[in-house]
Amino acid sequence: MEKQMICIMCPMGCSLTIKKEGEEIVVTGNGCNRGVIFAKEELSCPKRIVTTSVKTKCGPKACKTTIPIPKNLVFQCVQEIDKLRLDDAKFGQVVIRNVLGTGADVVITANE
Ligand code: SF4
Repeated sequence: MEKQMICIMCPMGCSLTIKKEGEEIVVTGNGCNRGVIFAKEELSCPKRIVTTSVKTKCGPKACKTTIPIPKNLVFQCVQEIDKLRLDDAKFGQVVIRNVLGTGADVVITANE
């Protein structure tokens, strides 16, 4: 088995090659160890930070999850955030705690 993927952990965007050698997963092309962790997680349980906006009476406010959540829950997470109707929201405010039981909070990331 050999797979190619781009590491999305930083703007370098290293091209990773992942090979299975026996029981061991070997990653090459990575500029740092985060690429190895990313590649192994992508194979077992891919996760993503969710960035979107929440509706308030003052207009949409940017928000994101505090940690990556399982990729298969991203759409459901966006739907949960879309249900919110807030009067206002300030930078750093938690608008959903432990979204979908993932352990991630959804926080406001901008004042505008
Ligand atoms: S492997 Fe390291 S340097 Fe390369 S994109 Fe990933 S985090 Fe950045």
